[in-house]
Amino acid sequence: MLTVIYSDEFLNHKTGLFHPERPERLTAIVNALKSVSWAQQLNWQQPTPVVDRLEPLMTLLKTVHTPSHIQQIKTIADQGGGYVDGDTPMSAESYEVALLAVSGWLDGVDQVLTTGRPAFVLARPPGHHAEADRGMGFCLFSNAAIAAYYALQRPDIQKVAILDWDVHHGNGTQGIVEADARIAYCSVHQSPCYPGTGYRDEHGAYNNVLNIPMSPGSTIELYKPAFQHYILPFLQKFQPDLLIISAGYDANADDPLASISLQPQDYGLLTEYCLQLTSKIVFGLEGGYDLPSLSQSVVATLEKCLSVGAK
Ligand SMILES: [Zn+2]
Repeated sequence: MLTVIYSDEFLNHKTGLFHPERPERLTAIVNALKSVSWAQQLNWQQPTPVVDRLEPLMTLLKTVHTPSHIQQIKTIADQGGGYVDGDTPMSAESYEVALLAVSGWLDGVDQVLTTGRPAFVLARPPGHHAEADRGMGFCLFSNAAIAAYYALQRPDIQKVAILDWDVHHGNGTQGIVEADARIAYCSVHQSPCYPGTGYRDEHGAYNNVLNIPMSPGSTIELYKPAFQHYILPFLQKFQPDLLIISAGYDANADDPLASISLQPQDYGLLTEYCLQLTSKIVFGLEGGYDLPSLSQSVVATLEKCLSVGAK
């Protein structure tokens, strides 16, 4: 069995007509997962309601984000919605939904550390562009960084690695964790591309950051050596007690927001690489905007997790 953490409430973060980061992304993935032949092997779990963990969740949020940023997101929602930046609309429900997304990522951590098996957090809004003091690029709160700090609260967790395979560099995540020796951040992303960060010569305060920029048009044939020669050795050397994957699927050839040329099944191979390191993997959804390739990529990811776990 493999746990997928999901709630229909994640559809209530409304971004308006024609925005690529839209509720239909999740609906497409849910429909795809319910129609696969191994659908009965998925354990669908609701995220813990925010009200049930409000105080610890807000404390964690404040370790990662400034009070003024959190307040700004709440205020925009209280006003019925608005824009965090030119790319990042919010609706009246978006603050509550963003908190529930964080809660879902924390549940993913609990699930993986309890079972020793991967779990997938099917939540939105995404988080890897959100910086300590501002939201941007469709992202409100830094789900992956918050999940890492949550895991580190446990006495048995000393080190957490975050692998970000979204096609865009996770400027927010890197900025939040790069000065913390307990967290490694590794990103493979298109360059040049939004948000214009993530250079190869950035290594973090403790050699805990690895950026692998990829040229537009790159296929899996270039991702393979990037993983085999750089990403996997980096993660292996760090020896994390938990791996969090910022699982964006906008490096697909059909994705409208970038120009990398992966195919959905290629994410199965990337997943296999990661499973060679550890089975303690929390996958959390970031980007991915072409609905067919997005949903088939998530299918490929989970199918690989199940096939490896069955051995
Ligand atoms: Zn992206």
